[in-house]
Amino acid sequence: MRNQTLPQSAEAEAARLLADDARYLWHSWSPSGTAGRGGMVVTGGRGCEVFTVDGRTWLDARAGMFNAALGYGRTDVADAMHAQAQRLATYTLTQAATVPAIELARRIAGLTGQKELSRTFFCHSGSEANETAVKVARQFHALRGDPGRRTILSLADGYHGSTLATAAMSQIPAARAGNEPLPAGFVHAPAPRCPECAARRPHRTCAVPGPEAVEQALLAAGPETVAAIVLEPVLGVAGVWPLPAGYLRRVRELCDEYGVLLVLDEVMTGIGRTGAWFGYQHHGITPDIVTLCKGLGAAYATVSSVTVRQSIYEAFSADPLMGGLRHGVTTGGHATACAGALAVLDAVEREDLVAGAARTGALLLERLAKLRDLPAVHDVRGAGLLLAVEFDTPEQAAQVDTAMNDDGVLARLQGAAVTLAPPLTLSTEQAERIADSLERAALALDARL
Ligand code: PLP
Repeated sequence: MRNQTLPQSAEAEAARLLADDARYLWHSWSPSGTAGRGGMVVTGGRGCEVFTVDGRTWLDARAGMFNAALGYGRTDVADAMHAQAQRLATYTLTQAATVPAIELARRIAGLTGQKELSRTFFCHSGSEANETAVKVARQFHALRGDPGRRTILSLADGYHGSTLATAAMSQIPAARAGNEPLPAGFVHAPAPRCPECAARRPHRTCAVPGPEAVEQALLAAGPETVAAIVLEPVLGVAGVWPLPAGYLRRVRELCDEYGVLLVLDEVMTGIGRTGAWFGYQHHGITPDIVTLCKGLGAAYATVSSVTVRQSIYEAFSADPLMGGLRHGVTTGGHATACAGALAVLDAVEREDLVAGAARTGALLLERLAKLRDLPAVHDVRGAGLLLAVEFDTPEQAAQVDTAMNDDGVLARLQGAAVTLAPPLTLSTEQAERIADSLERAALALDARL
């Protein structure tokens, strides 16, 4: 980390901001009584680095919250948003449209790789997109004369958001506890990982629940009552667990067999993160509905999307009350945000960042895989630029995370895993720096054991 000595006035201003942060700001998913991350006030960024008010520079190996896919300080995206905000900040998409919203919907349709998967609804956050997908699935079945299909089946360790319905889609205690009663109609199948042996090696020999566990949950719920199965191609928040080969293909078959919609939550994995535009493209299947958020706005634009098969869209013309979707949020598909997302997609294409993520991700994984031999390292896994090194205990992972912080590298702690999701623009040298830092920390941990 490069530490800059601050002039006295800047030091006083930094102290004031830290005090006001501690006094006024309520942080998401953070212990009360702390200012940011031990007092982390981010004031700027350039490329893959962010700067904090105390004069420090950090290599952001977690891209904020896995969303700053293009890094920081880009004028191309900022200029596109500025120009749109001056022309027309936004206009409602209720019975009207804007140019950026039309263009972004068309661009996403072109990226799905499937002609049918072509109709997009916009909102702001990943939670909102997944909540919308639930409503679309339930309304769709009712409109086609199958109103008994209400249940949503997802993986127990998945994460789909922080609204009440999306919290109900997960069994992660932090998302659920204290919020009960959560909405009814959500059931879970065990995820394809083994929590019991997550702390014992070698986990590869363990029997992890496969897609047959999804079928069992489907049968237990009564397949005629299930509206949709919702999955992440890589269980991100659970600690970066890519779905095994063949898993999604089998779930697709189950959906077809039982008349259930397949919803892929690509909020974290979409727009190149795994080395493909969409995570499902690694699996040779097409979902019925796909949601996007983080990489779409790339931390510049607040926008998320729900893209559905044209046939699902068409079913909504039968709605008795409206003749269309009864759902919306005032500034969903905000024109300035859509203009930003279009500039993001331009940059991803122009700079060939999807292939870049596959390449740099493979390099990082290869470096990190060498750590598997260390006694405290339980597993190393990843898909593109979404990676995790799992230790035997959360405490060990926390020690590694802290050591990386001391090196000026920001990773993310998820249970016993140190996870990485740097900007897709990460250079080879920066990938080596992240790997060096993690390796150094893991070796130091090993020496203390
Ligand atoms: N779905 C997945 C797979 C996520 O990783 C997240 C956030 O991390 C969400 C949904 C929720 O998105 P948001 O925080 O934008 O509401």
